[in-house]
Amino acid sequence: MIHADADSFFRIEQARDIPRPLRERGARAERARSGPLSKWICVICGYIYDPAVGMPDAGIAAGTAFEDLPEDWICPECGSPKSAFEVYEA
Ligand SMILES: [Zn+2]
Repeated sequence: MIHADADSFFRIEQARDIPRPLRERGARAERARSGPLSKWICVICGYIYDPAVGMPDAGIAAGTAFEDLPEDWICPECGSPKSAFEVYEA
């Protein structure tokens, strides 16, 4: 028991000194908010990007998360940038 307590205390001290675990926690939180297979909707024209389908005609493979689309990707319907999209809660 004493050994386990000392061990967890040591891990907490480590986390304070090494920023990497904090960054990993932040990345996980971001994925949980939208989700890798969330649909995204264009607020301008209503086009819905479904990562389960992707855009095979545009070279976007099925299973490509919206977050993984190129930064210069635009809405195929109205040409709006990725910033015009928000998570679509079906
Ligand atoms: Zn659009």
